[in-house]
Amino acid sequence: MLGPKESILETLGSDRKGPLMRVARLLKPYEFELSEMDSPSPKPGEVLIESRSVGVCASDLHYYKHGGIGDTRADRPIVLGHEPMGRVLEVGEGVSSDWVGKRVAIEPGIPCFECEHCLSGNLNLCPNVRFFGSPPIDGAFREKFCHPVSLVEPVPEHCSDEMGALLEPLGVAIHAVDLIQPRTGVGTVVVGCGTIGLCTIAMLKAAGASPIYAVDPLEYRTETALKVGATHVIAKEGDKAVADILSLTEGRGCATAFEAAGYAAAHQPTLDMAAIGAKVMIIGISAENRISFEEGRARRKGLTIYMCRRSRNTLKRGIELISSGRIDLTPLVTHHFNLDQVTEAFEIAAHYRDGVIKAVVHPTK
Ligand SMILES: [Zn+2]
Ligand SMILES: [Zn+2]
Repeated sequence: MLGPKESILETLGSDRKGPLMRVARLLKPYEFELSEMDSPSPKPGEVLIESRSVGVCASDLHYYKHGGIGDTRADRPIVLGHEPMGRVLEVGEGVSSDWVGKRVAIEPGIPCFECEHCLSGNLNLCPNVRFFGSPPIDGAFREKFCHPVSLVEPVPEHCSDEMGALLEPLGVAIHAVDLIQPRTGVGTVVVGCGTIGLCTIAMLKAAGASPIYAVDPLEYRTETALKVGATHVIAKEGDKAVADILSLTEGRGCATAFEAAGYAAAHQPTLDMAAIGAKVMIIGISAENRISFEEGRARRKGLTIYMCRRSRNTLKRGIELISSGRIDLTPLVTHHFNLDQVTEAFEIAAHYRDGVIKAVVHPTK
């Protein structure tokens, strides 16, 4: 068994002795351990942040259930949590003390800022990226963490801590909608109404898309889809909803289609709901790590298929959209937990129990 210090693979900030803070580490699938360790101290250019609200993300659930995501494995204990909202406690060398006390959200992707992709603005495509809360960088299911100040954004008072914890998934939705640029006045469909699907629907509405169709077999989720901007909902599995989408669109299908279910079984129905010449966006991350679909049907329709890699510089826009009320994600936050209840939070989220959409952990409450 590793001691608390060796088990932390890599933490931003440097080690120091005390004060102690509480940490929830995933030791192996389905097993968290709560322990105490020294708080980090911010290195030059970093801030120390008190972790107030952290969303449990579907990608955290991949680590919880399968020990990894795609070909990234957590082969040692890891602190998950990349959707934090917090408050700055301390600043490192070279950072203005004006930051102390500010409520902040973070951009979890830490790019190199030097490669050709970073220099052309595609920070999300940086091959050298280190992602906060993904091996080997420990995340926010602990009381305090450090982050580079260049990737921290102040959040105004009228954006709550819970909404702050939704800025990362909202950022992914903003990026997906940016890439596909749906035209308004023709149908758009979103398959899968978990957090990412619902954020996508809210973003589509804010971008003026209409009509917006939402598909999910869980009725409480399609009800939430209506609250955040869907114009029509179909509470069925994807393959059973294709006929409904075709009849709602006079047989044409949708000009843009988003797969946000994160299941391999959702790919074919999403493509079948797409119209001739449509754009299809794959946002979901499936445990199977493989996409398959009938080539002939997709080719005859001349579909363009997009993949969404996290988000690109969307944090400020997300804060503006939430603070201005253009996007209201309040109906998404269904469950709250403290750090001691982290296993319960993951169990409920992993098994879709109790009408869960977004479970939020509050490490300092
Ligand atoms: Zn996430
Ligand atoms: Zn780079």
